[in-house]
Amino acid sequence: MSKDVFSRIEIVRGDITTQQVDAIVNAANTSLLGGGGVDGAIHRAAGPELLAECRTLNGCPTGSAKITKGYRLPAKYVIHTVGPVYGGGGRAVAEKLASCYRTSLQLAAEHGCRTVAFPAVSCGVYGYPVDEAADVSIGAILAFLEGSAFPERVRWVLFDSVAFSAYEAGLRRAGGAAGTGVS
Ligand code: ADP
Repeated sequence: MSKDVFSRIEIVRGDITTQQVDAIVNAANTSLLGGGGVDGAIHRAAGPELLAECRTLNGCPTGSAKITKGYRLPAKYVIHTVGPVYGGGGRAVAEKLASCYRTSLQLAAEHGCRTVAFPAVSCGVYGYPVDEAADVSIGAILAFLEGSAFPERVRWVLFDSVAFSAYEAGLRRAGGAAGTGVS
């Protein structure tokens, strides 16, 4: 993994709805018609036009993603991805989570997004342990960025200190120099 790739990722604590980035990613459900957690927060901040556009998309399978405009959000786009329910965990579940990150980044790249922010997909009501999710998602993102100039920068926006610490540790395990990419 080149050092350059680590310089393109960062983790912050905060609220994803306020991020000044080209695209924010939503941890949605397969209906794309809104839910609780980060999904509810994004819809509240974006306004009712977001739900109206989501109604035209006919849902989204687990592990995939669809893109809409950001409406009243600072972000130009919302990329709605559907994480797996953790259940008993295992390889297939991890692969679905990695696929969420890959397909979201692919959509971001196709739309010319230079900056993208992710929440901890599946780590709320879908029950994915955040330390495991950190390893899977960091691995998926680093691999994607190795092969793509876009997006230029990826940020995880972690809502609480437990998730933030888990991602910090995950970044160290992945080989990022201590402090690199952590703000
Ligand atoms: P999922 O159904 O994929 O588990 P949730 O929305 O329940 O999605 O939770 C995903 C993660 O998003 C959790 O770690 C939760 O704490 C976090 N979260 C909730 N609200 C926000 C927000 N406004 N900004 C960033 N992260 C958030």
